[in-house]
Amino acid sequence: MGKTIIVSNRLPVSLRHKNGKFEFKPSAGGLATGLGSIYKEGENIWIGWPGNDVEDPEQRAEIIIELHELKMAPVFLTREDIEQFYEGFSNETLWPAFHYFTQNINYDEHHWEAYVRVNKMFCDAILKKADPDDTIWVHDYQLLLLPQMLREKLPNATIAFFQHIPFPSYEVVRMLPWRHEILAGMCGADLIGFHTYDDMRHFLSAVGRIMGLSNESGYIQAENRLINVDSFPMGIDYDKFAKSAKSKKTQTIAKKFLELLGDQKLLLSIDRLDYSKGIPKRIKAFDRFLEENPEYHGKVSMIMVVVPSRDKVRSYQRLKEDIDTLVGRINSDYSTLNWVPIHYFYRSFPFEELSAFYAMSDIALVTPLRDGMNLVCKEFVASKVNKKGVLILSEMAGASKELQDAILVNPNNNKGVADAIKQAITMPEKEQQARIVSMQETIQRYDVFQWVKVFMDRLQYVKQKQLDLQSKEVDADVISELHENFKKAKKPILFLDYDGTLVGFKGKPEEASPDEELKSLVSKLTKKSQVVIISGRDKETLGKWFKGQKVDIIAEHGVWLKINGGKDWELYADIDDHWKPDIKSVMEYYVQRTPGAHIEEKHHSLVWHYRKVESGLGDLRMRELFSHLKYMARGHNLQVLEGNKVLEIKRPDINKGRAASAFMKGNEYDFILAIGDDWTDEDTFQAMPENAFSIRVGYSYTKANYNIKSPKEVRYLLNKLT
Ligand code: UDP
Repeated sequence: MGKTIIVSNRLPVSLRHKNGKFEFKPSAGGLATGLGSIYKEGENIWIGWPGNDVEDPEQRAEIIIELHELKMAPVFLTREDIEQFYEGFSNETLWPAFHYFTQNINYDEHHWEAYVRVNKMFCDAILKKADPDDTIWVHDYQLLLLPQMLREKLPNATIAFFQHIPFPSYEVVRMLPWRHEILAGMCGADLIGFHTYDDMRHFLSAVGRIMGLSNESGYIQAENRLINVDSFPMGIDYDKFAKSAKSKKTQTIAKKFLELLGDQKLLLSIDRLDYSKGIPKRIKAFDRFLEENPEYHGKVSMIMVVVPSRDKVRSYQRLKEDIDTLVGRINSDYSTLNWVPIHYFYRSFPFEELSAFYAMSDIALVTPLRDGMNLVCKEFVASKVNKKGVLILSEMAGASKELQDAILVNPNNNKGVADAIKQAITMPEKEQQARIVSMQETIQRYDVFQWVKVFMDRLQYVKQKQLDLQSKEVDADVISELHENFKKAKKPILFLDYDGTLVGFKGKPEEASPDEELKSLVSKLTKKSQVVIISGRDKETLGKWFKGQKVDIIAEHGVWLKINGGKDWELYADIDDHWKPDIKSVMEYYVQRTPGAHIEEKHHSLVWHYRKVESGLGDLRMRELFSHLKYMARGHNLQVLEGNKVLEIKRPDINKGRAASAFMKGNEYDFILAIGDDWTDEDTFQAMPENAFSIRVGYSYTKANYNIKSPKEVRYLLNKLT
């Protein structure tokens, strides 16, 4: 078991220059706390930028030594790197795109180049520390390319990625000129985590549409690896907040603040300065509340903390000006000599004071326009040790998926938020208590430590699953074993599926005819062995394609058989197709409604093809058709099966396995090899005797003895046999 390396843009400490020297200030953030249990153990380490530029090589050397003591290693970024990679591509391109502020996206090629360059610098820094079997956990949107860069250098490492901000709909992702590189970068990981199911769903859809990689239950089948995508809502250090709220120190601070404020209902608003947080809209909703409820003037006020952030960026400066103006106007409109509606602070507060704010406020108003998770709302709930308090929470925050007992609002609905403030102020204590207790139960159980544990457990599970599949991979040893056995064999037989096994998939199925290389390969094989092409295709096509070859052909999953050298096809199963007209008329209805779909009629089955249908729509219609056909199938004793962009309805007793068994009956083969790529071939694999070799193309779970990557490798293997 190797060590674990945590990687994030920022280290969990900040480097500060002080009188020509430097010092480190540890971060108290939730992530640093949660991951503390990992990077401080054994040989583990955290790699990232220390948060300030250092040019002097001597100083750099000193910093490296000091950080080493803290179990960290720095990636030094220059001022230019920071401007282009961090402030530029990360915060002016990815941040707005991923928060649905598409009008704010800066499409700057130089920034992109810097992003690639800095991701590469991180990769190099990691490679200096990493061993091939280490676990590397990469964090967040600044490092989207890193998993793939690492994968290329450390193919067997365990690599995980977690994104702390939202992942937007495919419609937004497709706007980015670098969408392909970004997704490919992320797909270097074995496990990709997001805060919510929606983020994960968006990611899977983008990967499907942009990279053409499909998924099943969150597993993406990449070239030769299974990637798991899942949702892991991040928690907070619950006990820290609950304990602090009860502490003497916090209570003293809260008491002092309350004395200054007088008898008020207190609303709390805490955010970093960011357009995604919806601060101006929140102020306007509070304004509306005051306008519509004059009886509350003098009785309600808002504590608004805005933590400075990215204040060198022009759009953030403008946002700050907007907030200043709004607060100024409301305060000047409503203030009296002993009441100010908004107590506005543009600065950050030490933990104890923050904790006092949480503990003493009656209502938290958390209304981001978009937020990956939002921790402030969870910290507020954890701090409500007296069980009194109301959380108003935006539906657009990831946390809203967990905190269903908050008053959930659409932050764009000015009236809705103003009404929610009224509802919160007038909420009976019993109801407050019921809601708070229920939310506390959730966030106490899923705290940040549980988050880390669940993520790491999942990573191990995925890696094990990959290993199980890999252990069945056809490698050089397997090839030479097959070769030896084949060479010795007196009476060998090969069952070869066609599509997806001997040739790759084509847009139009009729275009997948055998190329010269395949023809010559088959002809070489037939010199030594009996070769059975066993396919779901119709007999006419297969007959034409393999004309003149010394092969046996089983067509339409076992309905038809053409013996090598024989002239005619013989029926290999009894046919009863009185069910077809009914089913076909239903399928036709779905063809009419779905541009790009068509029906293929086989003797024992009907197939609905949707490979050329708009992606997404095809799946939707297939599901609809599936449930429609399921009912009809029962009446006719038929089976409905999902294939590669097809839905097939057929008699259950006709399958490749039955045909292959019938074919071998009465013969003693001393070498049997079956190769296929989908569920229809699983019947073949199942029907094979003990001593047979069976291989499934692609890395799915299978009854076959082995997996192989693609048709290209199948051809390579078959060539080796000859
Ligand atoms: N916070 C802080 N000092 C302050 C105000 C806030 O340390 O003066 C912390 C707060 O406790 C929370 C974090 O900043 O943990 C904000 O996290 P959140 O997920 O809500 O928003 P983000 O800034 O990450 O978008």
